Parts: sequence; C-alpha cells; structure tokens
Amino acid sequence: MLRHASALVLASAVGCATIAFGCRTAEPPAETDRPVTTSTPERDIHSYARPHEVRVTHVALDLHADFDRKILNGTATLQLHRSPSASTVVLDTKGLDIQRVSAAGTDVKFSLGDDDRILGRPLTIELPASVNEITIAYRTSPEAAALQWLQPSQTAGGRRPYLFSQGQAILTRTWIPTQDSPGVRQTYSARITVPRDLRAVMSAEQLTPTGVETPTGRAWDFRLTQPIPPYLIAIAVGDLAFRRVGARTGVYTEPAMLDAAANELVDLEKMVAAAETLLGPYGWGRFDVLVLPPSFPFGGMENPRLTFATPTIIAGDRSLVSLIAHELAHSWSGNLVTNATWSGFWLNEGFTTYVESRLMEVLYGVDRARMLQVLDRRSLDAEIKRLGPTHKDTILDLDLSGRDPDDGVSDIAYEKGATFLRTIEHAVGRKTFDAYLRGYFDRHAFQSITTAQFLADLRQHLLRGDRQLEERLKVEEWLYKPGLPDNAVVPTSDALARVEQDVNAFAEGAAASSITDASAWSTQEWQHFLVSLPEKLTTAQLTDLDRTFRLTERHNSEVLFAWLRVTIRNRYEPAMPALERFLTSQGRRKFLKPLYEDLMKTDWGKDEARRIYARARPLYHSVSTNTLDPIISGKSSS
Ligand SMILES: [Zn+2]
Repeated sequence: MLRHASALVLASAVGCATIAFGCRTAEPPAETDRPVTTSTPERDIHSYARPHEVRVTHVALDLHADFDRKILNGTATLQLHRSPSASTVVLDTKGLDIQRVSAAGTDVKFSLGDDDRILGRPLTIELPASVNEITIAYRTSPEAAALQWLQPSQTAGGRRPYLFSQGQAILTRTWIPTQDSPGVRQTYSARITVPRDLRAVMSAEQLTPTGVETPTGRAWDFRLTQPIPPYLIAIAVGDLAFRRVGARTGVYTEPAMLDAAANELVDLEKMVAAAETLLGPYGWGRFDVLVLPPSFPFGGMENPRLTFATPTIIAGDRSLVSLIAHELAHSWSGNLVTNATWSGFWLNEGFTTYVESRLMEVLYGVDRARMLQVLDRRSLDAEIKRLGPTHKDTILDLDLSGRDPDDGVSDIAYEKGATFLRTIEHAVGRKTFDAYLRGYFDRHAFQSITTAQFLADLRQHLLRGDRQLEERLKVEEWLYKPGLPDNAVVPTSDALARVEQDVNAFAEGAAASSITDASAWSTQEWQHFLVSLPEKLTTAQLTDLDRTFRLTERHNSEVLFAWLRVTIRNRYEPAMPALERFLTSQGRRKFLKPLYEDLMKTDWGKDEARRIYARARPLYHSVSTNTLDPIISGKSSS
C-alpha cells in the first residue's frame, strides 16, 4: 500500500530463466510442497489459525451484496490441507454471523471463541475424518471494517451506491471466514451477485465480462489461480465503467470520472513494460487500475490484477502517477514475496519503496528519482525524530505484541527499509545487488517469509561468509535496532539544493517573483520548497507567495497539501476555505491526519477542526476515522 506520493525499482532485462515470476504464475507451487525454509517459521500473533495442523488452500465465495442492509450474505467454501492427526480447523472471524457449517451437505459442529478487540473471534470447526472441504454459510455485519458501503451522495456520480473492500492488514476476517494470516497463501474464486444496475470487480480474473442474469440480480464470476495472502482478496461494486489503455492495462471508475482517469493513466502499459525490463515478466496477467470514490483512505492498494487507487492522483498533468508505479512494484515485492507476519511489513514496503525509486529512474530519469529519495529521507528523519531515536517502532522487524498491526505502521517500514537496501546496493554495487534481488524474488516466489528468513537468504546469497562486509553493512543493527545506522546512504539532489537556495533567499526577504524558475518546477520541487519554508512567515510573505504562485488554487493534491500545512501554522485566513474544501472532498488518511493534527495544535484551530470533522466524518472510511477520532477528541498520544 502506498503512504507516499513517491513510489518505484530494478535493472537490466532478464529472461524467465533468471526470474521465474512470470514463467511460474501459470503453475504456482502447491502450498504443500513449498521448499523447506532456513529458519523456524514465526507464529503469526495476529491470527488464531494453526496452519501447521490444517491449512486453507482455496476459498470459493458465493455472496450476495445487499445494499439496503449493507451486508454480504452467502457462503464460503474452503479447501483444506490437513495433517493426519488434526480434527479441527481454526479460522479467523470478526463480526461475522455464522449460520451453518457443513461438509458434503451434512452439518458439522462449530464454535465461536471469545471476542478479542483486535483479533476478533476464532471459529473452530470439527472436521469429520477425511473431509477436506467445508462450506460456511454466513453474513457480514454492516460495521465490517473491511467494507465501506457508500451512499450515492458519497460517489462521483451521485446516483448509485458503491461498495469497496480493504483487507490489509487484518480486516479480511470481517468479510470472509478464513485463515487471515499473510503466511497462509490461498487461491480463490467467487460468484458475486449484485443489483442489476451495478458491476462487481475483484482482484482476480473476470470470467463473466458482462455479468450473468439471475433471479435476484446480476452475478459476476472470478478466479485467481495464484496463491495470495488473504489480505489481497478484494472487491468493489458500483456503477463502473471501463476503458482500455493498453493491451493488458485499463481503468475502471465511475462514468463521470472515466475520461479524466483514463487520460491520467495513459502510460500504464509503458510502466508495466518498464517494470518488466527490470524485474522480469509481469506474471499476474492484467494490470488494471480502479480509481475509487474520494473516501478511499489510502493512496493505493496493490490488489492483484486490479490496483485500487485514490482519485487524488488525478492531477490533470500525470505528475502523481508515480503512486501507480509503487503499486505495480508490489506485484513483485509484497504480492509475489510477502511478509509472513506483520512484524515483517518492511519486507513488503521497504522493498517496494526501493524498487519504486529504481522504476522512477528508468521512467523519468535519475534526477527525478533522487528528488524523491531526498523527500523520502526527509520524512524518515522526521518520523524518527517524532518517535525518538530509541523508540522500538523505529526497528525494522517490528514488535507488534498486543497491538493492531495498523498501529505500528509508519514511514519506518517504507523509508528505513528502502534506505537499508540502497545502502547495501551502494556497498556491493548495483550489478551485484540487482542479481541478488532477482534471485531473491525467484527463490521466494509465492512464499511468505520473515525478517529472519530474509537475513538467512542475504547471508547465503549475497554476504557469502564475508564477515567484514556484514559488519561494514551493520546488517543486524539495521534489522533489529532502533534509529538509523550511521552508514545509511545520504541521497542528494542538485535540483532540490537549488530550491533550498530559493527558500533561503525568500526567508531573508526576497520577493516571490524573484524565484524565476518556479514556473517550471516539478511536484517534488514544490513539495521541497513548501516543507523547507521557515516555521513562521508573515502574512505579507504568505500573500506574496499565494498571489505569485496561486498556491491556494492548486489542484495537485500533494502541492496543495504542503501549502495548507504552511497556512495552518501561520493562520493564513485566505486559504481556509480551500482547507475546508480539501478536508471534505477526499478521505486519504495521509493528507487528513497531519492537517487535523496541525489544526488541533493551534488555539484557534481546535473548534475549526471539530466543526469540519463533524461535517466530513460521514465521508471518511473507518481506517481514517479510527486514526482521526482520537486526534479530534484530544486523546491522541502522538
Ligand atoms: Zn506499498
């Protein structure tokens, strides 16, 4: 998933023999004959499942979407791989109404355990001898955290309702009873029945491109033959239109947004081709993008075959599509090789952020990639400063005991992870590191691994017994110690250094109009300029900036966001209507959280924040309101 605007990857064309991803997707390794790993698998503390006894290998859904009651209703049929001694299977559920469990048409006994605030309830099912398939009849709760049911008024079109899911990290259990652990990879198929005027899409191959008429609505069939962690099972239902932009790429969105979205994402095919030259064949078939209604809480979510994306990337000038490159990079890092538990989240996001930067370099040149690295490093330093350099959440291999994995997610996994990989690249050389990375994806394709397994792999295939190199790289310090090791590479950008000179001149009294090259600045140069401005500016300075560069009127969400932060801390009144518009017209947590926090830090802004939040809250996703409620009520710890 994407936290930052910057996003993407790797080098030199490789064939199937080198990186097996693309070649092996037609026939993924069976769950039961995965290679023996080099260390003991970590138990996933965020799942009740006991996959060493019984493992879910396939989920077949038959669900009806009831927009009046805001529930999904139907069955999940699970295929199981059991050890001979196992007599029960334990699944994860949260808020599910389990009506019946059966095997071969006969009811079997089941029980729901105590409800844990974070984990939900274990569903324990007694397995008759030799049964390898069970069917669970159930329905979701209207409050299911993974599902957002939008009123027509919350969509771009304004006439039809909308549903979309977000499974990461541990929310899939709120709509599917399964082993909801990223270490338990599953294939899936689905029949989704929806009202006749709506269309269903999923992170899977579409088997019925126009749907099938049924007595209760229109049914849409899907299947995904590659085993994935269950957080990647995703659905959206709405008034959706589709437009092809390339041979295997296209855009789904509401009809009202189709032209703008397709225009913004016209380079999708080029991106996939660029990623392939770096990482090997793209192995998931299609790469389509679903541009969601404004309440989507994330930048993007790397659901296989169908990336979910915020509409805030539609800037009109294709300047923010690097976000898509990040999600595309996840097709390798995250979806092909996945963190086995949420402690290893950096294996998904650190690798993806590294790869994203390499992809930006291929697509847009080294200057752009360096700018993004400098901005990322800046946010990493700020995050370590905010948490404190000895805080345990600055450790890559996270300790999430007793916590929701979402609470431990920060820039650390992304930026510290990417900086670690960049530091290794710098030490061993790009050619050597690229060969290692391609091997890494190949060796662990369709597997979920832990930090310890990564370390074992690094020692075996890159360090190869070179103790001096390992010490010089400070590998264990990077993985298991807080803060930033002192050998971290420092990214530099000439373009951003020039921007800093402009900032200094402006801070010392120069007029905004003296910054002559600003008209040609990229999004990244604007971001850097705005975040580098002094804490305190006079109203005259703010007015000068705004009149010269029309910052309050910007449609580029990243530039507007950076400007709004400046205006809040200096109480620049002319920007306040734009602030309110921004907070009430999109629900991306990355933008909302800092802006509300900034408001709550001021005397005058607290009431404003509460007033705007009361208006905007119905628009936001639970992922965002879970973060924002404590901030607005003043109970936030940060
Ligand atoms: Zn990501």
